[in-house]
Amino acid sequence: MKISIIGAGPASLMVASQFVHSNHEVTIYEQKKTPGRKFLVAGKGGFNLTHSGEISHFVSYFSNERIKQIIPNFTNNHFIDWLDKIGISTYIGTSGKVFPDKSIKPYQVLERWINYLKEGGIKFEFNNKMIDFSNNSVTFDSLTGLQTIETDKIVLGLGGISWSKTGSDGNWMKCFKVKNIQIIPFKAANCGIHTDLPTTFLAKWNGHSIKNSSVSIKNFSKKGEIRITKYGLEGSPIYYLIPNLRNQDSLLTIDFKPSFDLAKIEDILRREKNFTVGLKKLNLPVLVIELIKLCLTKDEFLNLSILSKYIKQFPIGFDSFRQIDEAISVAGGVSWEEIDNNFSLIKYPNVYLVGEMLDWEAHTGGYLIHGAVATGYHVGRFIFS
Ligand SMILES: Cc1cc2nc3c(=O)[nH]c(=O)nc-3n(C[C@H](O)[C@H](O)[C@H](O)COP(=O)(O)OP(=O)(O)OC[C@H]3O[C@@H](n4cnc5c(N)ncnc54)[C@H](O)[C@@H]3O)c2cc1C
Repeated sequence: MKISIIGAGPASLMVASQFVHSNHEVTIYEQKKTPGRKFLVAGKGGFNLTHSGEISHFVSYFSNERIKQIIPNFTNNHFIDWLDKIGISTYIGTSGKVFPDKSIKPYQVLERWINYLKEGGIKFEFNNKMIDFSNNSVTFDSLTGLQTIETDKIVLGLGGISWSKTGSDGNWMKCFKVKNIQIIPFKAANCGIHTDLPTTFLAKWNGHSIKNSSVSIKNFSKKGEIRITKYGLEGSPIYYLIPNLRNQDSLLTIDFKPSFDLAKIEDILRREKNFTVGLKKLNLPVLVIELIKLCLTKDEFLNLSILSKYIKQFPIGFDSFRQIDEAISVAGGVSWEEIDNNFSLIKYPNVYLVGEMLDWEAHTGGYLIHGAVATGYHVGRFIFS
């Protein structure tokens, strides 16, 4: 069987991994000169390949039922074992995130994976941009002009629409629209937010972090490290609130001292005549004290209950999301109504879809790469069987 996989991100690489040393003729076509560019960008950050933990808890970090259903067939432990098999040992960090072993650089993770595929007979064709497909053919814009190949199965792993310079540019949506295949509009996920925090404060503290705080919207809270940027806020607790912010909630609050209740904070402050000294006793970072001072009048600052409330529930107005091209990942993608149980297009049964181009979202911390490779495993095993 001739299998053509388009896009060389982790989802596609996992599809191809199901065919190493098989009798099938498998080629990965990629529009860029090299594979896995977004995967390498992920490597420059934390590079969480997956996340540890009980599978019932693990799946709760994914937004979509169809993705939740397939993950038990390719769990975090399956992925860790599989990585180990191809020479990528991993370790679990204190936060539960799974990283490649410290002796393996991110580019080596990709290199080992690509070598495993090449040694297993998988071919690569770079500089091939898919511009159209049918049920048994794909048309590419390549260095030598347009070329159409005939093939038995087609797998599309073309990514979302963030970090377009890595190749995940969403240009594939044009031919999907012509074919009347529904796409749920892409939205930024795991991204920074613009806020009403004073611009002078943001400019001064750009790049600094506030550790061990908790961000809330209505009844939902997330603890972690918040990063100040010149436009607003970033960091894992902010990313967790993005779906709520999309639902029009526009006020978030930060608890700068989640380990103390309001009464304890009031008690510590009451003992000090000078509140600035009291705030230091609470071990609040200088930038937090400065922020509170900036946002309160002198009278409010000297009012014990107002000051304590600002430490526990500092209000921040959400303005807008950072532009989608800067987002770590996206929500939206090809609608599940277009996809059957084997992740093939209902209108084109030989064409399968994997990875971020499908309509799902997940949190950072390893869940994104895991979701992508789990779809790749699902499709690869189905075609192989
Ligand atoms: C800054 C950053 C940090 C990240 N950190 C992490 C992390 O630590 N952990 C984690 O789990 N996830 C992380 N991610 C997310 C993760 O990288 C993605 O979820 C993952 O790469 C998605 O895989 P994919 O295979 O679906 O798509 P992609 O990796 O986007 O790959 C799609 C491929 O398809 C190619 N392509 C697109 N259109 C065409 C076409 N028409 N013809 C041919 N080829 C085409 C593209 O060039 C690209 O190579 C991070 C992302 C970013 C941007």
